[in-house]
Amino acid sequence: MLLTISTDRQPATDLGYLLHKHPDRCQTFDLSFGQAHVFYPEATDVCCTACLLLDVDPVGLVRGKGDWQGGSADQYVNDRPYVASSLMSVAISQVFGSALAGRSKDRADLVETPMPLTAKIDVLPVRGGEPLLKRFFEPLGYEVESSHHPLDEQFPEWGESVYYSVTLTKTTTVSELLRHLYVLIPVFDHRKHYYVGQDEVEKLLTKAQTWLADHPERELITRRYLTKSPSLVRQALARLAEEETPPIEEENIADLANESVVAKRERSLHEQRIDAVVDVLKEAGAKRILDLGCGEGKLLRQLLSEKQFTEIVGMDVSIRSLEIAHRRLRLDRLPERQRERIRLIHGSLTYRDERLTGFDAAGIVEVIEHLDPQRLAAFERVVFEQARPTTVVLTTPNREFNVMWESLPAGTMRHGDHRFEWTREEFENWSNGVAARFGYIVRFLPVGPEDAAVGSPSQMGIFERSHYDNV
Ligand code: SAH
Repeated sequence: MLLTISTDRQPATDLGYLLHKHPDRCQTFDLSFGQAHVFYPEATDVCCTACLLLDVDPVGLVRGKGDWQGGSADQYVNDRPYVASSLMSVAISQVFGSALAGRSKDRADLVETPMPLTAKIDVLPVRGGEPLLKRFFEPLGYEVESSHHPLDEQFPEWGESVYYSVTLTKTTTVSELLRHLYVLIPVFDHRKHYYVGQDEVEKLLTKAQTWLADHPERELITRRYLTKSPSLVRQALARLAEEETPPIEEENIADLANESVVAKRERSLHEQRIDAVVDVLKEAGAKRILDLGCGEGKLLRQLLSEKQFTEIVGMDVSIRSLEIAHRRLRLDRLPERQRERIRLIHGSLTYRDERLTGFDAAGIVEVIEHLDPQRLAAFERVVFEQARPTTVVLTTPNREFNVMWESLPAGTMRHGDHRFEWTREEFENWSNGVAARFGYIVRFLPVGPEDAAVGSPSQMGIFERSHYDNV
């Protein structure tokens, strides 16, 4: 099974940087169900094509963790080695993981640059035919070409198969193309090689959060992606809808501030967390606020709804998140008086940054667990020594609570990008150390429903600059 990606944006061999695979080499990767090979049939300045070839071992598939549902012969004799399916998505995430996530150590600018790209999927089972191809890809801005394969060329009377060769063309980033393919390839096939559990909702939302909420076929895509699990589908659709927040206009800023409007429905854990942070910031009397690692702007939105906060700055390392925040907060359409209160800036919490000094308070919500442990010391200095706001409100998951989530396999973390998750004791030790080293006083609050044995799902540390500190 073959997937090719080409570009003619010069120098076209930049594709090699984007995919993190050198155009001069043929590389092979062992996967649980066989092997994946990456090679470049053409790699010149004017045109470059990368191929991802899957060599699926049907026996390995049966022996592997895969939950291949079928009769005994079907287990061994099936189309899996020859078609693009959920196996292709696994290969994309394992072989092109950095490209998929839009990471690049040396060429960060390139990752964000849209370029003319063509993807060819050799054989794609499309249950729903050409109209479905168009319904799924065209709203995303692709030009779609497809050719339908007969069941057997020798016997035209047998009619058409479900197999298509598909060519997709769009000017976009490699990361976005891979995210679209990752989600949509298995959706056409509508048949997964493994058990679909809770973590699939997370995988779908991380790959699709920037584009699925607005897609006219989001329901069908979500249903097919989370095959056979209506409860997961409901959950994913609810979370997608939650991401689509209504515009903030001057008049509903007042509404938002009025808790009763939102209190009618149950608050999600993340909403509770954000409410708790806003309460602490209000109580601290802060006016000028930083939201560090602001992501897609959920806290920013709440901060905007409170008149007390006169200057609000959101910072994140991810340009994509900042773009989503900009769009969700409708910053373009905000009345001028509101627009002046808020700024989004691009930066990293592990590098000294003058723009962060002089604030009353900083919220750092579910961010530190995304930092490599060896970067924590740099983070501490950036926040507590250099930016040095009077109040810092920081939340992070409480690992002890993970046992309460039945769907979370033992020993795994809540999110693929978490570098660690702390117990309450670990978090308190770290926080007490930081407070002592940088002249703060810290106290702790649980966030979310509290269990007697394992505590609450999230934990919050509130750091206040000590009165003896004259810096
Ligand atoms: N605070 C937001 C987002 C949490 S997700 C919320 O609660 O909804 C973690 C965020 O931290 C992501 O947006 C990620 O891009 C950001 N992040 C990770 N490392 C960072 C760094 N070094 N500097 C700034 N932001 C970072």
